[in-house]
Amino acid sequence: MLGTAITKVARPLNSTHVTLRSKWRSSTGHRSPEALDLRQISNKRSTIIDALRSFRLESESSGANSLWLARQRLRASYEAVITRIERTLAEQPLPRLQTVGSSETVFPFLYDIDWGPNESFPVARLRGSGARGPTIRLFPGAGDELVRLSPLIRPLVELHWTRMVAQLNNVATVEEALRHHLFGSPRIPFSKMLRDGLADLQTGTCFYCGQRLVGATEVDHFIPRVRCGIDAIENLVLADRPCNGDKSDLLAAPSLVSTWARRNVESSGTLSIIAEMSRVDSDLTGTLAVARSIYGHLPREGTPLWQGRKQVLTLDPGLALEAMTFAS
Ligand SMILES: [Zn+2]
Repeated sequence: MLGTAITKVARPLNSTHVTLRSKWRSSTGHRSPEALDLRQISNKRSTIIDALRSFRLESESSGANSLWLARQRLRASYEAVITRIERTLAEQPLPRLQTVGSSETVFPFLYDIDWGPNESFPVARLRGSGARGPTIRLFPGAGDELVRLSPLIRPLVELHWTRMVAQLNNVATVEEALRHHLFGSPRIPFSKMLRDGLADLQTGTCFYCGQRLVGATEVDHFIPRVRCGIDAIENLVLADRPCNGDKSDLLAAPSLVSTWARRNVESSGTLSIIAEMSRVDSDLTGTLAVARSIYGHLPREGTPLWQGRKQVLTLDPGLALEAMTFAS
């Protein structure tokens, strides 16, 4: 999400689609009797969760059991939910995130916007472009620091958010299950369709070491989830367990970035088909843009990058950017 926010500063609220995707997971459709409504804000009602819940109910009664399908079948409702979420984000958290304590005085340290707390946000303004649109101007260096510090900040934010939700709902213990419910499990169960599609594309070999895939295979986020939560197929590769385990949360070295970027461009048609059949997102431009943004903000003097099992090298991340230039 950070990456998306940074690469789309001109139209930052586009990240609403990402918000919707992550909230879809934690909204409840069919509910068991013991199901619990989790409040995630201090107000009694949440516009975003309410909007999403009715969209989800509408989707399920139309037979769409995934966000992807719902988006295809109920375009008008989907757009209406997006607009509602965008308005809520513009009116509520954005003008308040940089206030301190209970004061309404804004101390901008990350970004600058043209509206304040208590301003309502009509749709015309939301859709305006240029100076009249909802532009968020990141301060110089803010983007760099967010990208560099995201592996550190993200777990802290998730932990504090989990604690706040636990407190608001009188849930006594902060459990890992709650965190997974709110932010998704680090291990998403990917479908067999997706695994088979990627295995075919990789001619039955591990994306990283090229050895034949036998036994358990793992779908790996090429740009690690801790850096950005991109679940689009362009960010997914199939690996054997030893490679995936060894790579862990490290960013890949330029040689692998080159193979990955080429795969995404040269097999973009096949990837889209696999994505559609296995109902995951496909976003070639966005994925490459986030990758460029991440590698472009790392220390040029050297960053530990993973080149293969037991091979972590300190390299200039600019080399990874060069490996992607052909794809722009
Ligand atoms: Zn391997």
